Amino acid sequence: MPLLQPPSLMAPRKREASLWPVVAAGFAGLASILALAALQRLDAPAAVAALLFIAATTALAMIVADRRAETDAADEAPQVARGAGEAAPYATLINALPDPILVIQASERDDLSDRRYVFANTAARELLRIQHSEGLLVTLVRDPQVLEVVDEALFGARDAETVYETGGVQARILRVHARPLGLALDGAHLALLAFRDETEVRRVERTRTDFLANASHELRTPLASLTGFIETLRGHAKDDRTARDRFLAIMHAQAERMSRLIDDLMSLSRIELNEHIAPDDEVDLSQAVMDVVDAVTQLARERGVVLEPVLARGGAARVLGDRDQIVQVAQNLIDNAVKYSPPGAKVRIEVESGLTAEACAAGLRAEAQRLSLLTPDHSAETYAVLRVTDSGAGIARENLPRLTERFYRVEGQKSHERAGTGLGLAIVKHIANRHRGGLSVESLRDQGTTFTVYFPLIAAPALPAAGLVAKVS
Ligand code: ADP
Repeated sequence: MPLLQPPSLMAPRKREASLWPVVAAGFAGLASILALAALQRLDAPAAVAALLFIAATTALAMIVADRRAETDAADEAPQVARGAGEAAPYATLINALPDPILVIQASERDDLSDRRYVFANTAARELLRIQHSEGLLVTLVRDPQVLEVVDEALFGARDAETVYETGGVQARILRVHARPLGLALDGAHLALLAFRDETEVRRVERTRTDFLANASHELRTPLASLTGFIETLRGHAKDDRTARDRFLAIMHAQAERMSRLIDDLMSLSRIELNEHIAPDDEVDLSQAVMDVVDAVTQLARERGVVLEPVLARGGAARVLGDRDQIVQVAQNLIDNAVKYSPPGAKVRIEVESGLTAEACAAGLRAEAQRLSLLTPDHSAETYAVLRVTDSGAGIARENLPRLTERFYRVEGQKSHERAGTGLGLAIVKHIANRHRGGLSVESLRDQGTTFTVYFPLIAAPALPAAGLVAKVS
């Protein structure tokens, strides 16, 4: 019998009535008659009396033997009575199992309402919100495929399996396995029904498939454009110098876009690979951000966007980090701010030091929509924070939760000619996570957006209060 099966539900071995008292009584009777016969010849009434004596002792012995068998069987009966309840010997073990388990009992193949659960471990009670120790199976699960596998195990005496999706707000995907358990005392069929939660596995699988589909689509679009222009240049535009120059410029932009996409994809996969290893170099956040500001200034000027860095003084915002990755974070946020700002707009870039996680994620404007996109797992005492605030069109509240999804772009936004990959904020989030930091966004329609990213501060030797250095480009 398998260990996990509640033994109490199985039919106990049938006890045979013991024959020794019968044999002993018979021998005793015969011995008495022989003894009497040896002493004197038996007359007819004496022989009848002797036979009656033998019959009576034998009958008495049979009754005793039968009662004994009954008593032995009754020793097992409490287990049967416990079957539907809690106190079966293996109940503690079965209740400790993380996977939900039910025992189903049924007698009538054609009567679905006859399927009853007669045992449910703790996990099953929680999953299926079971309150009674036994009841109708259809009150717990109505899915026809589940009922079918149960019948397969009950009456087909075969293992059977299906996948079942629960409804409700927190829908779960469950693999259900039914296994025959033989017959109960009363001849009813028994089956074990085990559930395994596959929600998370399926979610990861779906994310991977969606990611591959999206990545292929994103790469195929510029590739198709390149192929089209090559055909045109080979064909009717072959001798058209003006058209050729224009097409080559477009092809160049498309090739660059593909290259950016591949860079971002590779970067994302590298970050994910090391996400569990916290970086341990010492990085000055202000210095790293200043380097990015210097690099982006020219592009911002071309767009008519003014960068306003307000940075904690050198050495005041030292974090444990990977410098290249911190530069990548600043680059993505500042690039976005410039990209989604109208000409003439200002982008404010602040680095502050010595804030708690709550203070970093706290809002700047009460009326703005705010969302934490990443909260640090292990809260450090103090953080260094980078805030990038633009005065662009803002992001609608319903789009905020999806900003860090790969390839997600808010529809209908103008980002000038340098179309993004939709991977920038996903990269920012993964880098912040690797650094045990946090990320939040705050936006106000038509007034602009602030992205805030923060990293645990290296416990600093006593420094003067973080001063601010302002530089406007
Ligand atoms: P992309 O490369 O498309 O910019 P991101 O992951 O960096 O990808 O950003 C995702 C989307 O979030 C963008 O496509 C854009 O719709 C929106 N977004 C990001 N930053 C801003 C911003 N500062 N202002 C308005 N929308 C933004």
